[in-house]
Amino acid sequence: MLDSELLLSISEDCNRSDIIAHSDKVVSDIDYQRYKNLLSLRRNGFPIHYLIGKKEFFSIDFFVSSNTLIPRPETELLVDTALSLFGKNEKINILELGTGCGAIALTLKKNRPMFSVTATDKSIKALDMAKINADKLGLEVNFVVSDWFKKVKYNNYDLIISNPPYVEERALEFNNNLKYEPRLALYGGKTGLNSLNLIISEAIFHLNSGGYLVLEHGAEQAKKVIEFALENKYISCQSLKDMNNKDRCLIAQRSI
Ligand code: GLN
Repeated sequence: MLDSELLLSISEDCNRSDIIAHSDKVVSDIDYQRYKNLLSLRRNGFPIHYLIGKKEFFSIDFFVSSNTLIPRPETELLVDTALSLFGKNEKINILELGTGCGAIALTLKKNRPMFSVTATDKSIKALDMAKINADKLGLEVNFVVSDWFKKVKYNNYDLIISNPPYVEERALEFNNNLKYEPRLALYGGKTGLNSLNLIISEAIFHLNSGGYLVLEHGAEQAKKVIEFALENKYISCQSLKDMNNKDRCLIAQRSI
């Protein structure tokens, strides 16, 4: 019901509340056709947020498209974690890898204007969407097209943060909910750990002493990423649980 009201509000070019308030209004043939097309896309599993074109994250509306992952509520844990690691007025350098629509980088910048934030993505189309969001929110973030660290010039970050693709091959095949989102943002190789491991092993060379790596990972991957971080000489490695009580967020620190 919620989705059909939202889709009708798109075809009628109004708010959902108008649909409810004027439920006796007759819809034109053209709008009805538009509505039916949207309904049929939705029925086939096309995500509602791609149809609406936006998704709320940390109480901020972000534009999204099928070139960007739809921000998930559990990813807010990464933002909360990052905010808790630094004082309100600390001037720190942050690097976000694989920013997609920019949700993490822009939320951090909005909450802490003193932070200097660089956000990368391999996908130019995703980065374009992140720039649109930055403009809409009036936030200044440095955007760089980069395949993980390849075009990252500096190694003075106090925080490197990422929600990289970590879905394993089999899960991606069987999960119909994910089929319309970019494979680039989801697929983490056979075990799901390809990008996580790459980031863990390279981030240490781009962090300041005492700097933090904060990474989202799959619920079954905590032990593996903690072990891998320890092997790569990080200290104070732990995984935090998300609001569904699932292991979700690695914190690891470069030693001082
Ligand atoms: N949390 C997402 C999902 O399982 C995966 C996101 C990711 O791979 N970074 O739907």
